[in-house]
Amino acid sequence: MAGAPDSAKGPAAGEQLQQPQVSCQVFPERLAQGNPQQGFFSSFITHNQKCQQMLLKTVETNPYVKLLLDAMKRSGCAVNKERHFSCEDCNGNVSGGFDASTSQIVLCQNNIRNQAHMSRVVTHELIHAFDHCRAHVHWFTNVRHLACSEVRAANLSGDCSLVNEIFRLRFGLKQHHQTCVRDRAILSILAVRNISKEVAEKAVDEVFESCFNDHEPFGRIPHNEKYARYAHRDFQNRDRYYSNI
Ligand SMILES: [Zn+2]
Repeated sequence: MAGAPDSAKGPAAGEQLQQPQVSCQVFPERLAQGNPQQGFFSSFITHNQKCQQMLLKTVETNPYVKLLLDAMKRSGCAVNKERHFSCEDCNGNVSGGFDASTSQIVLCQNNIRNQAHMSRVVTHELIHAFDHCRAHVHWFTNVRHLACSEVRAANLSGDCSLVNEIFRLRFGLKQHHQTCVRDRAILSILAVRNISKEVAEKAVDEVFESCFNDHEPFGRIPHNEKYARYAHRDFQNRDRYYSNI
């Protein structure tokens, strides 16, 4: 199941590394229900079932996601897989979104290519959901709030880690990671806001330092799954410590 090639999409696996893709829309324009994009009911079923299967595996095994789900629960925003996730067809090349009005994470079943991609999308959107849970985020009216959450999502979800693995030998790892986070946050904002690139850049730059250094609930930047597992273990120990007081 993991990494199975998606015959409908074709292109080589390297595509995701080369093309800076907008991975998230905070308020995706959801397609009308019951209107499968391909027009083939069978292909819709396949995409949807595959999406559900990948989601289940991600929720059960991915350390980033497990940590975020635990953190949401502890913050009083327990996530229910049936209620808070929705596999749907999406417009364009968007992979996922967080719908704050319904507290639902949308997973774009027509664009999520494989298990690793699913895990990154779920992690990214759960960081928005976590921010939504812990703070009064004004997604629509304050672009700096959106910018902050996008910086955190790009920084902590592993969106920039895959690229890092390749570039770390050529550039300073830290510098490249920051540049990648900034660029992705700007792209994500431009995907959902009708504002100029300059305004988006300004919003990201204004919040960058504080939001880049806010690693909650990970406690550190989880550069790979091993770090994420350590972070999850630390989080559970933190939990245990507090519950013993
Ligand atoms: Zn996002």
